[in-house]
Amino acid sequence: MPDPLAFTAQSLARRGALLEAEDGGEVLALLPPELSREMGLAEEVRLSAVGGGDVVACGLGTPLLEAVVGAARREVPVTAARMKREPSPKAGYARSLAERYVIRNGVAEVLEVAGGEATYLVAWLAYVAEADERHEGVVALGVHAQEGAVPDEGFIAACDVGAEGALAPWPESAVVPGAERWLARYAPEVEERVLRGVREATARRHARDYERMAAYYAAMVAEARAPRRRVDAAAMEAKVRHLVAERDSKLRDLADRFTLRVHTRLAAALWVAAPVARVRMRVRRRKGSRELELRLPAGAQVFDRLPCEGCLGTTERPALCDERLHVLCETCVPLASGRPHCPACGT
Ligand SMILES: [Zn+2]
Ligand SMILES: [Zn+2]
Repeated sequence: MPDPLAFTAQSLARRGALLEAEDGGEVLALLPPELSREMGLAEEVRLSAVGGGDVVACGLGTPLLEAVVGAARREVPVTAARMKREPSPKAGYARSLAERYVIRNGVAEVLEVAGGEATYLVAWLAYVAEADERHEGVVALGVHAQEGAVPDEGFIAACDVGAEGALAPWPESAVVPGAERWLARYAPEVEERVLRGVREATARRHARDYERMAAYYAAMVAEARAPRRRVDAAAMEAKVRHLVAERDSKLRDLADRFTLRVHTRLAAALWVAAPVARVRMRVRRRKGSRELELRLPAGAQVFDRLPCEGCLGTTERPALCDERLHVLCETCVPLASGRPHCPACGT
């Protein structure tokens, strides 16, 4: 475990503080004004593990150490890399996938299959979900940086930075403006998917405790209404009112205890240049036609899911609208027959 004083001192130094070791294991720190405001400290401050007098403590559990750790966590590592170990997807496999690609209410024809490279942005989101229990974990999400198509899990696994030698540094500036917007668009759904089980289990425990508590108070009220000794009617009603109020208050506390509070933050992000097979498709519906590009990145078994042009989702088996052949998902167009309602056209 790192020494909290050294850790705090180094963290402050990285952010521009000047340090001087003093006798007795204290550290004198001169903080830039902005950092002193952020940390709630004087610009000239003495630090030690235990503190005391006007020496600020930064041992385990102290507000200063918490603040420094919090600030370090907000510095999200973002890096760029080129995938080097994964073999390029095979053109023949991409073609056979493309020939089986389904446009639910139209036809598709493969125009061209070619190899290449595409830029993706992969984010690792760390979540904490707390109610009566605490759950935490990390979930990864990737997007094609320009067009927001969503690669499958095989690709994300291939991007795992834990796999040694899989990635090479990518010195060129890889940043594609706007790619973060795609991540932000899909993140809530990914979070919901990951937390669905937790939500359901929390709701079940809530329902169970609710029933138990309601039954307990129902029994108490019944008992109060049928006393073994003779009781004054007004006193009996007062007791029942008291029990009902207590029950309601306890049930409200229960609802609060079982409300899932979710906090998600970006833990790391990777811009990655990946080998892809690209398929140009001509798709037709009624008299209209347009081109779509499908991509199969390294490690993936299926094409990237296309962003729906009618909602915030994605689709594996698109339908097309009549007017402008917008790509629409299974939620926007559940039934492929008939004239599709198109949110993008507003018709
Ligand atoms: Zn949709
Ligand atoms: Zn449309």
